[in-house]
Amino acid sequence: MQNNYLGNPKSTLEIINKYDFMFQKKFGQNFLIDSNIVEKIVREANVTKEDMVLEIGPGIGTMTQYLCEAAKNVVVVEIDKNLIPILGETLAAYDNVTIINEDILKVDINELAEKYNGGRPIKVVANLPYYITTPIIMQLFESNVPIDSITIMVQKEVADRMQVGPGTKDYGALSLAVQYYANPKIVLNVPPTCFMPKPNVGSAVIKLTRHTDNPVNPKDAKFMFKLIRAAFNQRRKTLMNALNNAPDINYSKEQIANAIKTAGFSETIRGEALTLEEFARLSDAF
Ligand code: SAM
Repeated sequence: MQNNYLGNPKSTLEIINKYDFMFQKKFGQNFLIDSNIVEKIVREANVTKEDMVLEIGPGIGTMTQYLCEAAKNVVVVEIDKNLIPILGETLAAYDNVTIINEDILKVDINELAEKYNGGRPIKVVANLPYYITTPIIMQLFESNVPIDSITIMVQKEVADRMQVGPGTKDYGALSLAVQYYANPKIVLNVPPTCFMPKPNVGSAVIKLTRHTDNPVNPKDAKFMFKLIRAAFNQRRKTLMNALNNAPDINYSKEQIANAIKTAGFSETIRGEALTLEEFARLSDAF
């Protein structure tokens, strides 16, 4: 077993100096340097020897080491080619890890689940690059990857946004998408001092457990999400005007007014006042 764990400042500095590694801001590189936090994340993810874990952005492999010990197998996808030789060294003790040098947004995750887990539900665990948190989450949900849970470190503010309902300023399209697909729960708050270099925002670990049954069943979920995006793209406007101005909602003003009325809402309502269930009702009213 590997003994040279990386979850501390000294080991992290040693390995990055050995390879003359330069942190790349454009890739959102803030590496964890606190093994307590890493252990807690892996524990919250509930990884067992039955599980395949996909880790997005392993960095130098700090959390990967713990994941390899807990899981059946681990697949890591890392965009930065300069980290690949480092991972080769830090993960050398493990024979259950596959390292892929690619942009996660270009990877067919369904194919990975098929190849490395026989198509069974996978667990995603990651300290995400913050510049693409939302596209990564949407990719995981919308591509219908078989997923058991997603345990991810994100910006604190984004974690809050995933949990809230109508009437709060953080409520938005991401909240609704997350709540449609999963049950979100913040499991840990993490201060900037746990990373190298320190990010200038607070972080939180959120666990998204996939629903077995969706909480609402609109006739056309894709259309419902079009409505949601349109409503929040112009959140200061009434729902009526926001939908009427949206380029990809191809209904006349009259048809939109009718649907809003049929769904039981006033003409002056704003989209940000609607719950997921109400958006589903509106979607069916069209
Ligand atoms: N997991 C490591 C840790 O906790 O120490 C590193 C986390 S760091 C916040 C984010 C990682 O994601 C970096 O290693 C970065 O290079 C990688 N990354 C950034 N954009 C990526 C992308 N589009 N696809 C895959 N990896 C990416």
